[in-house]
Amino acid sequence: MHSRWILIFFMTVSAVSGLRAFEVPLKDTAIKVDCGSTAMPSCSLAASELRDYLKKISGIELQITKNFDDTKSTIIIGYGEIAAKYGIKADDIPSGGFKIVVRPDIRKVFLLGNDNGNPFYRGAMCNREYDFGSLYAVYELLDRWGCRWYWPGEIGEVIPEIKSLILQDGEQIIVPDFSDRNFCVSPTPPEFWGKQEKWSDKQKSQAETAFREYRLWALRNRAGNTLAYVSRHHYPDWFALWNKKHPEYLGLYRGKRGCDAQPERSKLCTSNPAVAEAVAQLAVDYFQKTPSAVCYSICEQDGSPGFCECPKCTELNGKISPFDKLPSLSDRYALFWNSVGKIVREKCPGKYLGVYVYSRYSAIPETVKKLDPALRLVLCNGCRIDWHIYRYLVDGWGKLTPNPTCFYLTPIPGAYGSNFFSYPWCAHENISKAMKYFKEHNVAGYRAPAYSLDANWIAAAPMHYLYAKASWKANIDTDREMRDFCQMFFKEASEKMADYFKTLEAALKSQFNTAEIERMNAEAETLENQESFSAESVQKLYSPELVRQLRAKLEDALKESQTPIVRERIALFMQNIHFLELDIAASKAYLKWHSNPSGENNLSELTRICRQRAELLSSINPFSGVIDFGMAFQHDRDGRAYNFNFENEKLTFKDSFEKKRLNRWVEYSFFEGISNEKASDGTSSIKLRVSGKGETALRRNIKVIPGKEYKISYDTLLEDSASVLRMRITAGNKTLLNSLTQSPAPDKWVHTEKTFKASPDTDNITIYFIVYGKKTDTKIYLDNVELYRMD
Ligand SMILES: [Zn+2]
Repeated sequence: MHSRWILIFFMTVSAVSGLRAFEVPLKDTAIKVDCGSTAMPSCSLAASELRDYLKKISGIELQITKNFDDTKSTIIIGYGEIAAKYGIKADDIPSGGFKIVVRPDIRKVFLLGNDNGNPFYRGAMCNREYDFGSLYAVYELLDRWGCRWYWPGEIGEVIPEIKSLILQDGEQIIVPDFSDRNFCVSPTPPEFWGKQEKWSDKQKSQAETAFREYRLWALRNRAGNTLAYVSRHHYPDWFALWNKKHPEYLGLYRGKRGCDAQPERSKLCTSNPAVAEAVAQLAVDYFQKTPSAVCYSICEQDGSPGFCECPKCTELNGKISPFDKLPSLSDRYALFWNSVGKIVREKCPGKYLGVYVYSRYSAIPETVKKLDPALRLVLCNGCRIDWHIYRYLVDGWGKLTPNPTCFYLTPIPGAYGSNFFSYPWCAHENISKAMKYFKEHNVAGYRAPAYSLDANWIAAAPMHYLYAKASWKANIDTDREMRDFCQMFFKEASEKMADYFKTLEAALKSQFNTAEIERMNAEAETLENQESFSAESVQKLYSPELVRQLRAKLEDALKESQTPIVRERIALFMQNIHFLELDIAASKAYLKWHSNPSGENNLSELTRICRQRAELLSSINPFSGVIDFGMAFQHDRDGRAYNFNFENEKLTFKDSFEKKRLNRWVEYSFFEGISNEKASDGTSSIKLRVSGKGETALRRNIKVIPGKEYKISYDTLLEDSASVLRMRITAGNKTLLNSLTQSPAPDKWVHTEKTFKASPDTDNITIYFIVYGKKTDTKIYLDNVELYRMD
């Protein structure tokens, strides 16, 4: 057998005169792990990955040797005695970087970096400095060589055939442009998916494989973060911590400390100095107990209810936020973070405190001009395509902090609509533009939330790959990357697939004309005109004509392709189109059923489509059986909870009036509409004003299953002169429920919950809210109307 040679080109080589080519005889070359006295899991992985991919590329298997033979040609991984003996230094490699040294004189190749940590750590999020330099050096070589990992698993992989290995001598240090490349948030280990005791062995093994493949994908693209700062909603919750001992630490909400209805969403009374001290103490205790940790999250809890309404906190409210048109709480939180930061920095120098710039604290603070150096910010309020929102955040918040900020990446449309699957997406031009901007503006990198990754790689391929690549080199040529992707991945069908991506990107771009949105933002007081991917907007974005075109282009590509793996890849894109069609059909069927619940076949048609959709999801998702896909059909984002569960045809209905419209409520007599004046949580409630006749009402028809038991709940706030709110549910002429709410004190929200049984002979009920007042213009507010079926 002829010995084969492998060729590795170094694109750039540090200034060493007299470059020489070093030909590595594969058959006589060994791989040696040499990373000091402790075994480094990332170095062992580097060695086995190098061996395995060299074999895939060349057919020859190099030996990973235990004994180092000075006279033999060797690739040495890691920094240990051997590298030191040859005078190679590691202390000049910046954190997160790596070094490649080729020494023809001694027939050695050194691949080294700062190695620290386990690449398969099982936390939901790591919280220390991890560094896999030597491993990344291996992947860098494989990448230069033409190995590509466009999505997890073998089907997403491109392996070239190479005949010979030639290395240019010299030394090169490579450092990423972004240190926080946190795709790893997402491939969470199976234990974080919960309910494992209910899993079958098959599900456990599927979930484990998926975890490993996702994590490997991230590592191979060197997207595994260098630094991970824990910034997320603080758990365990404040309520559990302080409700008994220090209720005054909790936000004053609807007249009470803490958030009764959802205790885990309770917020803090941030203007109380004792709260800053108590939170700082939690951080200090944590750092003392966990010395390796670099960061502690002091971020507020998720969700809109519970923000403190005490006079001292309210005094710090800012102008109306461009994000949600409510008073900004950014200054309130920035002051609080600064107080905590100051204490923690003195007691635990060098440690960080993570916070989200999110929710009602997204707008740029007005009075606070500097943030404590201990704070690390994750900018959350962005969206997938219109990166100008990030630019607003990066520019504004970036000026307040000496530290790099990090952006929260939600790259895929559809995340809201379906949670575990996504719509086709391509936006390479915007990725290119955004990453260059971020590089120039002190952005540390990105976090990717679960739904954008565990979802569906195909929908956005190769966008994740581009993000990963651009995070090492912000100015990559994404046009070229797209061309390479099409050529390497789809071979004979590359032109047709390039056409598919071009059509998709152009269609999305025309819908999201960035310049137009920027102009609107400049003029309007809201940044909210970003898309929301409600069912309606999905239908608008993916018009029947576009879906037809995309399908046709994939069919053309399938005709061109002969290679089984190429056909298989295209089929996955086709499946994604199929999902899109089903999703659109489901929302149309939902609307039809919703407007006429008793209409013949309306429910059976909706159920049929939802079932098809769930079956498709179950067939492709590794967590099939763990995730209930039937739950996942949401009609629109503002309704949030028009959930249709196809499994038991169960309707959950919720209206928290977050948007300025009536959501199918009908005015019965005098009615004032949606109000921003008061809301129990969220942003809006319905205001009912007593008319001259002394009463006013609102009604809505809802479809139910005859004979089943239901629960209805709602929040009310009555003005002093309002005597009572009556909630009445009728079916035909029959009254099923009649409930009166009287306010215990004016201006206090009252929560009411009642159960009732649907009439056995009709599936249609009407809910009425009727106000009676002592005088005209008396107001009552209504919020969070929810209806559940009990079984
Ligand atoms: Zn307060």
